[in-house]
Amino acid sequence: MTRPYNFSAGPAAIPDAVLIQAASEMLDWHGSGMGVMEMSHRGKEFMSIYEEAQADLRELLAIPANFKILFMQGGGIAENAIVPLNLSQEGVVDFVVTGSWSQKSYKEAAQFCKPHLAASAQASNFSNIPSPAKWQLSSDASYVHVCTNETIDGVEYHNLPDLKALGSQAPLVIDFSSHVASRSFDWSKIGVAFGGAQKNLGPAGLTLVVVREELLGKAMKHCPSAFNYKMVADNGSMYNTPPTYSIYMAGLVFKWLKAQSENGVTGVAAMELRNIAKAKLLYDYLDQSQLYENRVEKSFRSRMNIPFYLRDESRNDAFLAGAKARGLLQLKGHKSVGGMRASIYNAIPLEGVQALVSYLKDFEATQA
Ligand SMILES: *Cc1c(COP(=O)(O)O)cnc(C)c1O
Repeated sequence: MTRPYNFSAGPAAIPDAVLIQAASEMLDWHGSGMGVMEMSHRGKEFMSIYEEAQADLRELLAIPANFKILFMQGGGIAENAIVPLNLSQEGVVDFVVTGSWSQKSYKEAAQFCKPHLAASAQASNFSNIPSPAKWQLSSDASYVHVCTNETIDGVEYHNLPDLKALGSQAPLVIDFSSHVASRSFDWSKIGVAFGGAQKNLGPAGLTLVVVREELLGKAMKHCPSAFNYKMVADNGSMYNTPPTYSIYMAGLVFKWLKAQSENGVTGVAAMELRNIAKAKLLYDYLDQSQLYENRVEKSFRSRMNIPFYLRDESRNDAFLAGAKARGLLQLKGHKSVGGMRASIYNAIPLEGVQALVSYLKDFEATQA
């Protein structure tokens, strides 16, 4: 069966092979007589699923041994509160606002700490990332928050800032929800990375937090225990019942990722090559087109989320209806910015982007 290509920003497409395997194991996982949803989270069956998911993710993302991998709940939005509860000690936190998601983080943090706007790209309509050399970093910040891929605005950091080189001693916190596992990350520059699973790792319900060990144990007194990173780490992500089925599904995605290869490399390195090629194909078409435009400056464009606008917005509904008829789903842009958006996460193959470009071309030809 070939399914339509699904360009949803999240919850997003999951590889067919993963869904087929999950379906085949639904009633009886590996001869246990139980489906994964029905297992005790502390039983040996689920523990083996959990341990493998942890080990596979550590290998895939090349996470060093001095970082803990926490499987939590609440999504990126809950982390906007959980991070300051764990790290801010009610002090100053620097925020760099490059789009809707970092803006949300900045606003939420005011309930828990003293957020300081170190830089903002709002004046440019979130079409770029202010140069780190110009960030107004505080001397006493508990941490610096950035969103490394702005899912709504389509802006991505292609290099992480080196805070030490900028004169800051604060750890860097990154919201990498929408590009985790799409590329490699330099962990030497990171204190905490968090992201919901539903963009690139699997179904909603699981929140990934990767935290440097030395940052554990600094939570404020009123931080809920289930959200206290040290409590979660000390209990192997089982202080409370973890989202077991989402962990299992993400674990299947990790195995799928490990098996991908491209030009002699595997795993995330293979995905990165594919993602570069996919994004180039789409941006190249948009840039030469008379009908469509992407408004993000070239060096800050996201490989994962590509917003674009029809110059004649009265054609939007016709565009979306035609796309759906061609098996190209969920291309409508976020309601806050309008237009269109193609999210081309790991689960979208090059053929999916080729099908999209060929539709863009055909639709444009009918508009002449
Ligand atoms: C989707 C997303 C979130 C929010 O995730 P929830 O699971 O809805 O809380 C936060 N940050 C970024 C960058 C996202 O893409």
